[in-house]
Amino acid sequence: MTITAASPHVMNTYGRLPIAMARGEGCYLWDVNGKRYLDALGGIAVNTLGHAHPQLVKALQEQVGLLMHTSNYYHIPHQEALAAKLVALSGMTNVFFCNSGLEANEAALKMARKFGHQKGIAHPKVVVYEHAFHGRSIATLSATGNPKVQEGFGPLVDDFIRVPTNDLAALQTATDGRDDVVAIFFEAIQGEGGVNPLSDDYMQAVRALCDANDWLLMIDEVQCGIGRTGKWFAHQWAGIVPDVMPLAKGLGSGVPIGAVVAGPKAAGILQPGNHGSTFGGNPLAMRAGVETLRIMEEEDLLNNASAVGAYFKAALQAAFADEPGVVSIRGRGLMIGVETRVPCGQIVMQAADAGLLISVTADTVIRMVPPLLITTAQIDEIVAILRPLVLNLLHPKVT
Ligand SMILES: *Cc1c(COP(=O)(O)O)cnc(C)c1O
Repeated sequence: MTITAASPHVMNTYGRLPIAMARGEGCYLWDVNGKRYLDALGGIAVNTLGHAHPQLVKALQEQVGLLMHTSNYYHIPHQEALAAKLVALSGMTNVFFCNSGLEANEAALKMARKFGHQKGIAHPKVVVYEHAFHGRSIATLSATGNPKVQEGFGPLVDDFIRVPTNDLAALQTATDGRDDVVAIFFEAIQGEGGVNPLSDDYMQAVRALCDANDWLLMIDEVQCGIGRTGKWFAHQWAGIVPDVMPLAKGLGSGVPIGAVVAGPKAAGILQPGNHGSTFGGNPLAMRAGVETLRIMEEEDLLNNASAVGAYFKAALQAAFADEPGVVSIRGRGLMIGVETRVPCGQIVMQAADAGLLISVTADTVIRMVPPLLITTAQIDEIVAILRPLVLNLLHPKVT
């Protein structure tokens, strides 16, 4: 079966590879022609438990046969179960459920605005970051720090103040003397922006600044959360607790889901009638969330993410030790970016041809966010495929 680049009927919003997958198992996918791929992308940090995890499949099959959707007119016991788990893991207090990352961030931004209005601030401002990615709705693309995401969709929501990452002086200058700031909003590790971690020191300083000024600290853990870095949430490496934490991607291990977790300062902002979602928190998605977190604990996947992630980073550092064209190898746990001196987009298809799935973000960063159950042997496989492709990119053979 030949896959053409463009589909005749599906809207042309992605630069897709000419590949279609048929099935998956663990960290491997097979396409419609039977070719096997090692999945170092994990559906963009979504397939926490890999593909077709037997226990998740069994639970979801059971849930489909029991109940998939009722609406939020009624109590949904699975929501209570997942919320209780997220509260226990985060040290926060209450959860709102939605269906995607941008929805979780949209809810966070609504909370920030209402928090401001409750304090009598007419035009509440949220501090956001250069190279941030928060989604593609009008509000979240406005919060995003990438002109390519915004182009053609103006006028943008303009109540954002944008600052560079890891620069406390710049943040202080941007907010000094203002009485309209209500929240600071960042990804603990920027994903789409090129796998850019915020330092633990910086996150701690921002927490202190938010406390001193009664601002909400809102940390987008949509990509870096759910065990990916070896802790449940990436900001936990800094020993802090946010006031608002949007989640999505890995929470359902492939089933669409989003959530906003709130601490005491933010949990009461949204009241009946303020916000809602038809699909949000439906029994199928909630079961996926509950089972994902349960299986992660049972299989000790946080420790696997830490240990295999450290092995991965060390293996990449060794593979490119003598290669100045590899500018940086960064990230934490199983969220790894390899930045090359030149744009490296061509590597995505070359790697797929060689049986490896990766992505490139911010033009020059190879991003790898594999399922959390990946093994060191599979990491060896990834590095063995990637190394010659990167070296060939940096030193093209003259033929
Ligand atoms: C992917 C992502 C989003 C958007 O999630 P969608 O489910 O695609 O709407 C928001 N924030 C971060 C950090 C992300 O990585």
